[in-house]
Amino acid sequence: MTAQKIDGKAIAAALRGRIGDAVSALDKAHGKKPGLAVVLVGEDAASQVYVKNKGIATKEAGMTSLEFRLPADTPEAVLLEQVDALNNDSAVNGILVQFPVPEQMSQQKIIDRINPAKDVDGLNPLNAGRLVSGLSALTPCTPTGSVILAKETLGDLSGKHAVVIGRSNLVGKPVAQLLLNENCTVTLAHSRTADLPAMCRQADILVAAVGIAELVKGDWIKPGACVIDVGINRIDAPERGLDDEGKGKTRLVGDVDFAAASEVAAHITPVPGGVGPMTIACLLKNTLTAFCRQNGFEQPPL
Ligand code: NAD
Repeated sequence: MTAQKIDGKAIAAALRGRIGDAVSALDKAHGKKPGLAVVLVGEDAASQVYVKNKGIATKEAGMTSLEFRLPADTPEAVLLEQVDALNNDSAVNGILVQFPVPEQMSQQKIIDRINPAKDVDGLNPLNAGRLVSGLSALTPCTPTGSVILAKETLGDLSGKHAVVIGRSNLVGKPVAQLLLNENCTVTLAHSRTADLPAMCRQADILVAAVGIAELVKGDWIKPGACVIDVGINRIDAPERGLDDEGKGKTRLVGDVDFAAASEVAAHITPVPGGVGPMTIACLLKNTLTAFCRQNGFEQPPL
């Protein structure tokens, strides 16, 4: 079998287009646009790229993008004051503090401080608890995007056995909960799971969110499975030669051995171009949802 590649780029672009249409319809009807505030502390190169891309996508969707950049030595109290100011600003519907933050700051304290109604990362314990309780919640972006990809590919997920590898609050746990809400039978596997390959072989839907390059081998995949690879890992690519500075080039791979898994699975996400593009699309989706709820507007279906 040669698996069909799940085109996350195209699915994300279509979702962003629908979000843009909804934003423009709401603006016409009410004269208001959603506002997303992104706070970046420090100079981390990868975070700077993420924040820049989020700003571009936010504006492309017709939303207002606000960026706040604080120096790396900012005391935690100053960042928390910034969060309070954004919580109290009615032009700001969504708040995202780019992680990781410098070590003088507690990530959990920041997550706890963000108004749950503006928590577009979906990490505040109130939103996490609402998700577990099956109540409406702002749900974490990468997990939401992963489940949208599975639904776009398979349709109804009801009754399917989903195995999720990884139990972080950011990815693994919310993916498992979202799949449970789709009526999957869910197994949440992790670093202490006994016989992980045998567990994975039972999966109709396999979600890998570990952070170990090509951990999941071809013979771990159930024939005909749908594989959603969340992992982003940079590995050496000697076959690509040297870069301009004379250093060996690298490339991105997922947590799944893509070539081998493609021989067995029916559907698989590539890395890059699979789950990655869905994260920003779902951030915009959450911002639209937060905006509608804060203003009492009915959210157009996406
Ligand atoms: P994390 O380090 O917080 O969690 C990793 C999880 O993997 C842990 O729960 C751990 O129990 C499990 N694990 C570790 N070793 C294992 C092993 N040998 N076997 C089975 N399970 C094992 O990582 P995270 O934040 O959840 O991210 C996971 C991956 O997803 C990373 O590669 C990260 O870069 C990627 N990611 C991608 C996006 C995206 O936009 N596509 C967003 C967030 C994270």
